[in-house]
Amino acid sequence: MRYAFFRALRPAVHTTIRLRLTCGLSNGYLKNMKFILFDIDCTLIDSGGAGTKSLDLAFEEMFSISDAFKNINMAGKTDLGIIREGINLHGIEYSDEVIPGFCETYIKHLRHYINNDRGHIKAGVMEALETLRQDEGLTLGLLTGNIAEGAGIKLEHFGLNSYFKIGAFGDDDENRNNLLPIAVDKFHKQHSHRISYSDCVVIGDTPMDIRCSKPYGALSIAVATGPYSFDALSDAGADVVLGTLEDTKRFVSFLIR
Ligand SMILES: [Mg+2]
Repeated sequence: MRYAFFRALRPAVHTTIRLRLTCGLSNGYLKNMKFILFDIDCTLIDSGGAGTKSLDLAFEEMFSISDAFKNINMAGKTDLGIIREGINLHGIEYSDEVIPGFCETYIKHLRHYINNDRGHIKAGVMEALETLRQDEGLTLGLLTGNIAEGAGIKLEHFGLNSYFKIGAFGDDDENRNNLLPIAVDKFHKQHSHRISYSDCVVIGDTPMDIRCSKPYGALSIAVATGPYSFDALSDAGADVVLGTLEDTKRFVSFLIR
C-alpha cells in the first residue's frame, strides 16, 4: 500500500523516499528478522507415497524399468540426486539432457497421484504455520529437495502454498548442502537485506536437513515425524529435536528467542 503511494510521486522524489524507506526497514524489523526454512516431505506433509510412485512411473516411462527406486533411500535427498542415483544404479549412462524430460514426466504423474487417501498434513503443522505467519519478525520459507514445481503441487494440494513466498529447491542445486546460501541469496533479492546465517532456522526430519544448516551456523530443528527416530536426530547434531510440531508454544519459543 505504502509502496503504491510512493510510486505515484514524481520520479526524483520517489527515488529519495524509497531509499529512506529501504534504509529504515534494514535498520528496523528486517535487522531482527528470522528466516524460518521448512523441509516438506515428512516435516510438513506426507504425500501418501505420491512422490515415490511418480518417480518410479517416470523412470518406467523413460527407461522401461519398473520399481527403479525401491532400493534407494530417498529421505533428505534432492529429487535430482535421487534421479541420478537411480540412473547410475540401473547402469544407464547419465546425461544432464534427460533431466528436463524426466522431471516433466514426474510432474505429470505427481499431479495425478497426489490425489490419494493416504496423504496428510503432519500433526501440529497448520497451527504452527498460522502462529508463525502472524509474527512480523519471521519470514517463512522452504528448504527442500523437491524440485520447485513438485513442491508447489504437494503444498497446493494441502492448502499450504500461501504460507511460503520464498524457497530453495532441489532444482536450484542437486546438493542439499548448497541450498541454504541459495535461500539467503533469494531473501536478499526479495528484501534488499542480507540476512545473517545465525538468523536462519532449518527445520526438517532427517540428518541431511541438520547437516545442510551446520556449516553456516544456522539453528537446526529436527522433528521425528519421518523415518528417523528422536535419538537418531539428536545423535546427528540437531540443536533441537521435537517429537512433532504439536506443541506449538514450545516450537515457537525456539524460533523467537
Ligand atoms: Mg523430509
